[in-house]
Amino acid sequence: MADKSYLGWPFFADTHRTLETRLEQWAQANIAGGHGKDVDAACRHLVHQLGEGGWLTHAIGENKAIDTRAICLIRETLARHNGLADFAFAMQGLGSGAISLFGSAGNKAEYLPGVARGEAIAAFALSEPSAGSDVAAMQCAAVQQGDHYLLNGEKTWISNGGIADFYVVFARTGEAPGARGISAFIVDAGTPGFEIAERIDVIAPHPLARLKFTNCAVPVAKRLGEAGQGFKVAMATLDVFRTSVAAAALGFARRALDEALAHAKSRQMFGQTLADFQLTQAKLAEMATGIDAAALLTYRAAWQRDMGQKVTKEAAMAKMTATETAQKVIDAAVQMFGGLGVVSEHPVEKLYREIRALRIYEGATEVQQLIIARELLRTE
Ligand SMILES: Cc1cc2nc3c(=O)[nH]c(=O)nc-3n(C[C@H](O)[C@H](O)[C@H](O)COP(=O)(O)OP(=O)(O)OC[C@H]3O[C@@H](n4cnc5c(N)ncnc54)[C@H](O)[C@@H]3O)c2cc1C
Repeated sequence: MADKSYLGWPFFADTHRTLETRLEQWAQANIAGGHGKDVDAACRHLVHQLGEGGWLTHAIGENKAIDTRAICLIRETLARHNGLADFAFAMQGLGSGAISLFGSAGNKAEYLPGVARGEAIAAFALSEPSAGSDVAAMQCAAVQQGDHYLLNGEKTWISNGGIADFYVVFARTGEAPGARGISAFIVDAGTPGFEIAERIDVIAPHPLARLKFTNCAVPVAKRLGEAGQGFKVAMATLDVFRTSVAAAALGFARRALDEALAHAKSRQMFGQTLADFQLTQAKLAEMATGIDAAALLTYRAAWQRDMGQKVTKEAAMAKMTATETAQKVIDAAVQMFGGLGVVSEHPVEKLYREIRALRIYEGATEVQQLIIARELLRTE
């Protein structure tokens, strides 16, 4: 049984504790079994299940403030049970976040109810082959022609690429150089001039693609926010979800610790159990302490955001620490399992693959370090 003592921390309200208990029961009954090889089908099914269970309403901020602690608890719990379920939940939020925050009443009415029910799959298309960490180097362009924009260019590493029903796409509209000349658009799958140029396979399989736009006409009414405000739209959306990446990493790390504890207590060697060795005990102590430290940073950032405070530095600290710690914890778990730890589809082998990308996306660790340092060095 996983240690849930952290739920007693003062960062949470009773509504959060109840939410976690309900989700834990739901997750055990519905998603604990993993999924087959067809990740597209599995992801569609999980989005549908999460919608039916009512969980996706938490990912969408329509008409209510986003509850960051709820999103974090949901991601942590889903990640502990099933990495693809966490991915499906997170992408519904990230893919629709710009609509919740900046969409017109018409945009919200058209897209958000379907996202919340798990009937419409969302994607967030910011990165390009030459513009990952350096978002402002984006080249994908949108030129207004009457009541439409014509989009030309590419996006890559787009989660849900190939299965999404709509994509929030960022393109250069040229009001000003760099970050100030970008706008955000909703592009429906199947729009003429929009194609999935390539599907990309990654170590922890989930739907991922490179997108291509060739004179793709998007109505002005599907621009999110003002022209030239796209960078602000992207950063505000990522700001909501950055702390939740830390929570997903925590979920993976807690699962690895649970697996390691169970294994260490049962694995016989040299006439005793693996857990009887002090070397093992030291490793378990390091793993548990790292997880608690990461959890404290994560839920501090979530709580602070829910209190309406600025969390630029705190969210970056949480994302960096939780993802880096989870990588170490999972690696230690694989080591304790010996050969079993590297067998395909073993729980810790899957975690070892699941965690890696979290140190890269939504701002690599080095980018988080720069954010923290910039905040520290800022002169008020
Ligand atoms: C599985 C996965 C899913 C993704 N999903 C999406 C998605 O849905 N939508 C989307 O828009 N994008 C998505 N991305 C893209 C992701 O955000 C980028 O990969 C990320 O921003 C890094 O960009 P890059 O890959 O171009 O690496 P680069 O920008 O080339 O960076 C490479 C490395 O350089 C280092 N680095 C970066 N900046 C600095 C610096 N200032 N100083 C020193 N070192 C530095 C970091 O270690 C970084 O990992 C996804 C990526 C992955 C792997």
